[in-house]
Amino acid sequence: MTLNDVGWGYCPGCTHSQLHALIAELFDQQGWNERAVGVAGFGCSSEMQRYFPFKVIQAPPGQAPSVATGIKRSFPDKMVFTYQGDGDLASRGLDVLMHAAARGESITVLCLNNLVMAGSGGQMSPTTLTGQVTTSTRLGRSAARSGKPVKLAEMVAKMPEVAFSQRVALHEPQAVQRAKLALRDAFLYQENGQGLSFIEVLGWCPPYWDCTPLQAREQLKHRILKRFPLGIYQNVGLRK
Ligand code: SF4
Repeated sequence: MTLNDVGWGYCPGCTHSQLHALIAELFDQQGWNERAVGVAGFGCSSEMQRYFPFKVIQAPPGQAPSVATGIKRSFPDKMVFTYQGDGDLASRGLDVLMHAAARGESITVLCLNNLVMAGSGGQMSPTTLTGQVTTSTRLGRSAARSGKPVKLAEMVAKMPEVAFSQRVALHEPQAVQRAKLALRDAFLYQENGQGLSFIEVLGWCPPYWDCTPLQAREQLKHRILKRFPLGIYQNVGLRK
């Protein structure tokens, strides 16, 4: 499967592009293209509808896991996934995700966490680092006023019916390989009906981080991974 040739709408160096390519490659290799249904979150991630050559449905803000639940329950043979940013998933939609996780819905939830509400103008999101400057925190996020950043992969892993929860990143070739394996496993859990699978993909947003893509990658390596360690936070074991 190749992505649709419609001209790229993401900013240069945006990690959405990398993640799209990984998903496309995986679905192609696994032969899942005919069965795939994507549910787009609100924000930059809603752009995905233009690029994937399978059905992608736009969910209302924060509601992607509910929409995915309805599709999966109606069409259990489909490979259903949500594709959301941290603003959509962790702010407006955190309760929706946690309830889907508690119910153990057989869906895969993907979150590109770039630590900012990029789609609405670069405001602070629940995962913004303490001290990080955004368009709504000009002096940096204050822990006293806004609390500390939410750790999604760890939080989702605590829900009883979650089969798999992992945080990955796309900043170097080995990390990309690990991300691809994590994506594969997440979809295999769905295939087996073992519960909700969740992947948090750490990414970057050069325009709203006010830096170049290369500088963003360095920030991720040297600053962000300290707060958001990569790893598997839940893994019940794939049934063969
Ligand atoms: S604003 Fe940020 S997240 Fe949105 S397309 Fe540009 S780089 Fe990507």
